[in-house]
This record gives sequence, structure tokens and C-alpha cells, in this order.
Amino acid sequence: MESEAAQVPIAPRGDVYACPSCKTALARRRADELICDAGPHVYPVEAGVPDLRDPLTRPHSESVLRDVALWSAARRGRDPWRRQRARAWAALLEAGRAMAAPPGIFADVGAGEADLAREAARLGYRALAIDLAAPPARTGVERARGTLEALPLPSSCARVVAMSASLHYARDTVRALQEARRVVTDDGVLLIALTPVNETAEGADLAAEHTRRAIRVAGGTGPLATGYRHLVAAPLRAAFDQSGFTLTEWPRVLGIAWEARRRIQSALTGYECARFPLLIARPRE
Ligand SMILES: [Zn+2]
Repeated sequence: MESEAAQVPIAPRGDVYACPSCKTALARRRADELICDAGPHVYPVEAGVPDLRDPLTRPHSESVLRDVALWSAARRGRDPWRRQRARAWAALLEAGRAMAAPPGIFADVGAGEADLAREAARLGYRALAIDLAAPPARTGVERARGTLEALPLPSSCARVVAMSASLHYARDTVRALQEARRVVTDDGVLLIALTPVNETAEGADLAAEHTRRAIRVAGGTGPLATGYRHLVAAPLRAAFDQSGFTLTEWPRVLGIAWEARRRIQSALTGYECARFPLLIARPRE
């Protein structure tokens, strides 16, 4: 692990981003402001990170971030997903290199701590970390705030669009996938990891309620406390199809032992445990 001091922030270049509302290019008007070519849309740059969230969705994303902060504080630094994350990311990066090798843009959407983007930068991609909250500085990573449903990127710019533990937070799955399709190149790939997928709507709701309750217990009252959800396999497959993607899955990327434990747990409790496959979505010809 690199120390925090070793993280070298990259100054926002701006040239890669587009207006999330009208998708035209962004130019720097002042050090703390980007403006789109179409004119009316102005975006602040705070501490070197452009805030490219669609202004209409900012209040919603602020209340999501409040829920996330409370939920995360309640976990007091525990990270039960550390090993699974490492496995899922290794599989994701392997698929990326096989299907859309660097160089080129690797846009990590819902980038969180930007560690996956940092790995992508190490592999030779131009790595962008985009998240509702400003991602922390990571070596080789360009950062911006943005939403899944209105990506602040021009069309056909990215070799790889990655979503790690993020697609299930989209308010509108189809719109998020359509945005990914818009920004990925025809020979590129959309890679989705660590998103819970249940076979049945009932199983998805029961499992998600477990998490919603944990967020409420932590004090959350916002959109995640009431609306956190898992995805359901059949409508999810239809959403990829509707958005112009051909979908393949790498199952068991989290390890055979982990999968077996989940299956046993599921059999014992009668609950349908979610699967976390690597979803590989390629633009349809
Ligand atoms: Zn605009």
C-alpha cells in the first residue's frame, strides 16, 4: 500500500469532461469554475475536483451521501469486503486488459476511494475516478464528482467503463447503462463488479431490507435508508439488452470457498443470497 503522502494528485485537465446536462465540451472560465459550450451550465471546482453532478440531482445525491456517511460511521472502520474486493478487482482488471487493453480512458464510475482507478492508472490507462463525493487523491488518477445517470463525459471516449459496487445505487438502472453505452467506444467494454444480483424480486427485497434496516439503525433517513436495493437477474439482463450491450458473466470471481459458504448459509436460513458475478457488457454490433 502506498502511504497517503505518496498519493500525487493530478490537477484536473478538464479536457476529458463534458457537461452532464447537454454533453458539450467544458472550458475553464476561472480557476474554480468550468462552463459548457452551450453556455448556461456552470460547474464549481472545489479543492481541485470539478463538481460535475447534474445540478437538478444535487439535493438527492447530498441525502444519499448523508446516509452513506452514517452507515459507514456505524461500521467503525470494519471492512468485511476487503478480500472479496481484491478478488473482484483482479478479475475486472484482467477482463479489461483482455478486451480493451491500455492505453485509453478507464472511467471508474462510483469510484469511492479511487483505489481501483489507481490500479488502472498503474496498468497504463488514463484513469478517471467519478463519484457522488469527491474521491481522494490517488497517484495517476483524475477526479470528478458525477452521477451514474448523467455521466460528465463525452460520447465514445472510454475504452473501459467500470462500476464496482455502484450500479445498484443508480436510481434508474437502464438510464445508467445507456449512459455507459454512450461513453464507451464501440470496441470498449463495461465491467461491473460487486453488485448484488438476486434471482427473484422477493429475494432481492428481503436481502436489501437487511441493509436498509442497518442504515436506519445507523440514523439514516434518506434515499438509501428507504430505497437501497439489490438487482434482479432477469430485468437486469433485459436492461443491458435494452441499452445496446451483449452481456456475459464470470461467475465465482469471489472464490469457490466464499461461494460455497454463501450457498450453505442460504440453505440454512432459507434466504436467497445475492450473487456477485463480474458482468462483462460489450457494445452490440
Ligand atoms: Zn451544458
